[in-house]
Amino acid sequence: MAKAKERACKLCRTVYEGDEKCPNCGSKEYTETIKGKIVVANPEKSEIAKKLNIKEKGTFAIKIR
Ligand SMILES: [Zn+2]
Repeated sequence: MAKAKERACKLCRTVYEGDEKCPNCGSKEYTETIKGKIVVANPEKSEIAKKLNIKEKGTFAIKIR
C-alpha cells in the first residue's frame, strides 16, 4: 500500500494525510512542501506552540511555503 501524501494546511499548519481538506479548519489551501514538523500534545505549555500561534493538539508544520 502506498503511503498517503502528507499535506500541511496553509492557514493553520495542521499536517494531515490523504483528505481533501484540513480536518482542523476545513481549508482546502494546502502545501506538500513541509519543512519540519512538531507534535503538540499540550499547546498551553509548549513554547514553540505559542511562537507558532498553535492552540490545538496535533501535528503541525514549522515551515511551509
Ligand atoms: Zn487548517
